[in-house]
Amino acid sequence: MALTIHNSLTRAKEPFAPLDADMVRMYVCGPTVYDYAHIGNARPIIVFDVLFRLLRALYGEEHVRYVRNLTDVDDKINARAAEEGVPISEVTARTIRQFHADISALGVLPPTVEPRATEHIAEMQEIISRLIDAGCAYVAEGHVLYDVTARPDYGALSKRSLDEMLAGARVEVAPYKKNPMDFVLWKPSKEGEPAWESPWGAGRPGWHIECSAMSWKHLGETFDIHGGGIDLQFPHHENEIAQSTCAFHTPFMAKYWLHNGFLQVEGRKMSKSLGNFITIHDLLAEWPGEVLRLNMLRTHYRQPVDWTKKGLEESWKTLRGWYGRCDMDAVEGEGAFAPPVLEALCDDLNTPKALAALHQLEGAELAASLKALGFSRNIADPRQGAVDADGIEALIAAREAARAEKNWAEADRIRDELAARGVVLKDGPEGTSWELKR
Ligand code: AMP
Ligand code: ZN
Repeated sequence: MALTIHNSLTRAKEPFAPLDADMVRMYVCGPTVYDYAHIGNARPIIVFDVLFRLLRALYGEEHVRYVRNLTDVDDKINARAAEEGVPISEVTARTIRQFHADISALGVLPPTVEPRATEHIAEMQEIISRLIDAGCAYVAEGHVLYDVTARPDYGALSKRSLDEMLAGARVEVAPYKKNPMDFVLWKPSKEGEPAWESPWGAGRPGWHIECSAMSWKHLGETFDIHGGGIDLQFPHHENEIAQSTCAFHTPFMAKYWLHNGFLQVEGRKMSKSLGNFITIHDLLAEWPGEVLRLNMLRTHYRQPVDWTKKGLEESWKTLRGWYGRCDMDAVEGEGAFAPPVLEALCDDLNTPKALAALHQLEGAELAASLKALGFSRNIADPRQGAVDADGIEALIAAREAARAEKNWAEADRIRDELAARGVVLKDGPEGTSWELKR
């Protein structure tokens, strides 16, 4: 069946034709590892996992190479390590562990390669040297900057002119930049920050160069698909293209660029200040991972998702209904897409249409399609059996005691701990009662 995908480069749906049908190559920007991933971060992970599964079904498991990186050098990571007074490696190792645990609960397959930025410093330096030689980058005050005026096609992905970029962007104005839009390839490290020796002094890479280096190392100078969230289109992906095409003298970096839309929560932008910031980890304390996966796939990847509790409840009901109608244990291997499901996915990864098709299926076909989509009946209610009523009562008693002592900080800490377990407290004249949030 022929696959059609929407290419951000042309803003149109195009037939997918791999550069090398023997090895389809896809790169997706992975997380910066300094804290738990939020449910918005889960969107590209789930969406491109479905595309990975689809490509494997179409071209064969051995003929798809999927690279999703880990950004393990970044100012946010340094700041977190300094705040906690622990080594940077402790923050990154812990966060990577948490990330893997979270996304495996979401039914996400490991990518073929999961490169780390800190293991590709040599490749980054090689690209930077080539950019300087090609006249696309310059050295200034210990920094190496990419010169956005070096080539006329800068802005081709985001369809912006330099003037429009400047008007819309928060650019870091620095006296050593020739153009305010010029971006950092290499920068000096301050005391206590990670630093690598380089021809331009001890320092560390900029963010954009990391993905050009890792995709080059693991996929080559050009490859088929590059994915990520829509927020990455500019400047991150624009800059990746500029770096890679200039360094390798290629007409393009990736042939197809795919961008997922944004996720908001209960109709509002997710943010820490609005108090509606939810991590995958927190959601998994309350919902089976497969419910989160299904809820994500009910919206087409290019549309915005409104993440709601109502949606999660509906997703759980749907999943239970499907599992009630088929025998997942009878499915062998990774399953297989039934024709109407495959057809929907081949239409620019139309998951809402694919899920609608599942409703029409029965028995073995339904089970095999579910498995192929990453659902394998791993839906134990995280609170069933895990609910430790005695433990909850003991915490409530400890909270009462803290309140009696006017130790509000401790009382609040216990309330938060209970909330993390999905317990809602009701303070009334009879004392405190509790129930589980649904
Ligand atoms: P970051 O760690 O912020 O670089 O984000 C990692 C990935 O998550 C990128 O592909 C982002 O585009 C994506 N992402 C971040 N926030 C959201 C959101 N609210 N909705 C959808 N995707 C998001
Ligand atoms: Zn990237």
